[in-house]
Amino acid sequence: PSKPPAGPKPPTGGAGGKSGKDAGGTRVITLMPGDGIGPEISMAVIKVLEAVKAPLIFEPVDVTPVTNAQGHTTVPDQVIESMNRTKVGLKGPLMTPVGTGFRSLNLTLRQLFNLYANIRPCKSLPGVETIYGDVDIVTIRENTEGEYSGIEHTLVNGVVQSIKLITRPASLRVAEYAFQYALDMKRKKVTAVAESQAMRMSDGLFLTCVREMAAKYKSKMDKAGIVYEESTMTTLCLNIVQDPRRYDLLVLPNLYGDIISDTCAGLIGGLGLTPSGNVGTNGAIFESVHGTAPDIAGKDLANPTALLLSTVMMLHYIGMHEHADNIEQAVLKTIKEDNIRTMDLGGKAKCSEYTNALINNL
Ligand code: NAD
Repeated sequence: PSKPPAGPKPPTGGAGGKSGKDAGGTRVITLMPGDGIGPEISMAVIKVLEAVKAPLIFEPVDVTPVTNAQGHTTVPDQVIESMNRTKVGLKGPLMTPVGTGFRSLNLTLRQLFNLYANIRPCKSLPGVETIYGDVDIVTIRENTEGEYSGIEHTLVNGVVQSIKLITRPASLRVAEYAFQYALDMKRKKVTAVAESQAMRMSDGLFLTCVREMAAKYKSKMDKAGIVYEESTMTTLCLNIVQDPRRYDLLVLPNLYGDIISDTCAGLIGGLGLTPSGNVGTNGAIFESVHGTAPDIAGKDLANPTALLLSTVMMLHYIGMHEHADNIEQAVLKTIKEDNIRTMDLGGKAKCSEYTNALINNL
């Protein structure tokens, strides 16, 4: 089981393929280095991509928040213009101040580019000691609505309301993405997760939509030997820490997916290892699951593996499979055989030392 997280394929009608490619086959990528450890780990990734001679040109853009004509916080025009042209972004983490009314720019980006599916593969890396050692779970999370719809207001002093928004089109499209992904990536089981007994209308609608899609995909899934099952979020939480090997691919509403994918990250050795892809009809943005890690920012201590594996997902997405495989193998070798690890994995290597060792393994 040495193959690390595989990347999503471009969705049908999506933007993976050819857009953003120049005549020489070089692909232009929008680079959002981000805040905190973002610039350090982005630099590490660029060094690795240069070493592997990936035909990429990075277009760096600054995602410092701006206020639009309606008075809302959003991303600068330059980001929108670049992403509209390149269709593919690589992104470091962005800081969200707490309680200022400043809306998460991550949310803004997902909604602006309709990045409706968030794919988070969590696979144990050989050599990284964890309780189970052989976890292999992909979380596919609805990425534009649910509790993260960003609709919140004060009703009266001391009473606030946040809207959990669930729609049929968003639920159907993420369910379809999940079933197609299961077939493309030869997964074994799809588990739909919701709390439809407690949240009868919202989670009920989500589950109904996944069931509809399961019925549409039934014959293909049966033929491929892929099982479909359903679980409540509470049962999933209990089971996944007792025996994560029961699960293979999870499809969930936004907030549940965020929580359970961090749980999966913990099961394989932490946030420094977990990549993700945000895929939609207008393009895709690849980023690590972790945040800006302000406690270690600027100290050359960050683990760049999560952003590197996100880059591997991106390279698969744009069809540069060989470069993707080279980088994956180098990550595995550096961690397992050379035992060169950053502090979060119990090692002593600086981000730059780990990156240089990895480059020697390409
Ligand atoms: P965090 O992920 O930044 O940090 C949690 C812990 O994990 C810290 O101890 C940190 O040092 C460690 N860690 C995270 N990434 C690491 C890495 N690559 N290598 C080594 N250690 C690593 O979570 P947080 O502290 O809750 O959030 C900090 C900020 O990041 C907040 O402003 C939050 O909104 C933002 N955030 C952004 C994103 C994103 O841009 N996608 C995701 C999550 C959090």
